[in-house]
Amino acid sequence: MRASTSHGTTTHQDGLRVLKDLDTGILNHMAWLKKLHRPLICDEPPEPADLAEDAHCRCKFGRWYYQNCNHPELRVAPVFQKIGELHKAMHDDARILLRRKMTGQKIRLDEYERFMDDAISFEWEVQSLQFEIVQRICVIDHLTGVWNRQSMQSKLAEEMERMNRTGNTCCLCMMDIDHFKTVNDIYGHPAGDQVLQASVQFISQRLRKYDSIFRYGGEEFLISLPNTQAEEAEIILNRLRSEFEQHAIHLQDGSTVRITASFGVAAMHTEMSIQDAIVMADHALLCAKSNGRNRVCMWEVKEEVANQE
Ligand code: GH3
Ligand code: MG
Ligand code: MG
Repeated sequence: MRASTSHGTTTHQDGLRVLKDLDTGILNHMAWLKKLHRPLICDEPPEPADLAEDAHCRCKFGRWYYQNCNHPELRVAPVFQKIGELHKAMHDDARILLRRKMTGQKIRLDEYERFMDDAISFEWEVQSLQFEIVQRICVIDHLTGVWNRQSMQSKLAEEMERMNRTGNTCCLCMMDIDHFKTVNDIYGHPAGDQVLQASVQFISQRLRKYDSIFRYGGEEFLISLPNTQAEEAEIILNRLRSEFEQHAIHLQDGSTVRITASFGVAAMHTEMSIQDAIVMADHALLCAKSNGRNRVCMWEVKEEVANQE
């Protein structure tokens, strides 16, 4: 999930695909459980695959889990690993029960209970993963894959709390693409969407891993730069601005677009609200726009004082 970095996850589409795959996994699991009880209770012959040492790789879920699940970020998630362990344990337990049955032995209660506990835990963990993915999708902007505005308040509140605890500073930057309406007018709205996606990707890749980018609205993004003094933020953002200006965006139809962006920066203070800091960054952005665009403007302390008078 591109926002899986602190910048924002897997895309929305990726998330939906995994949710569907996991839903299918749960359904297949229920169907397998039902089938497995036939030999255990009704003396039907067992499925040969269930008796194999690698039964956990042969079932439908196992094939998806080990071969077809091509979501690298999901694969390294702890809950995903746990699901794999439970799934294997469940198949190992099932094999023990089937072998007892086939050799005419009594099925032991502790072994049956362990099997059912693993089967229930497996389903529970799959559902927990689905819940995590849904939560993830809810905080991500569908078009660009960065954090959405709904998640911004809580993430900035966390940052403010960290500032209170550590005494560190955090800068906020409001970034707005210059003359973006013209991009839509010339190339069309779908191409404008591609430009937005490519711009955000370009910028996200150049932020530090603890910085965050939120889609504030339209072609306007809020970037938080934790542990960063205003002077440092100005240097970082000027470098970003210059790299962005030089970057050529290639559209699917083969055309190339070059755009610029304006940046307004303000430092967050523990004695002011997050909303006030955003307003300050927005004022600084207006200053960047009115001074010719494609520039970084800092909210000056003297403006702050003047504003309070
Ligand atoms: P300025 O330099 O003053 O920021 O000019 P601008 O043209 O970028 O600003 P303006 O506010 O006039 O226009 C913003 C445009 O961004 C208009 C709107 O249609 C477009 N826009 C907003 N969200 C999206 C989107 O998701 N996709 C596309 N393609 N366009 C969008
Ligand atoms: Mg704009
Ligand atoms: Mg705008």
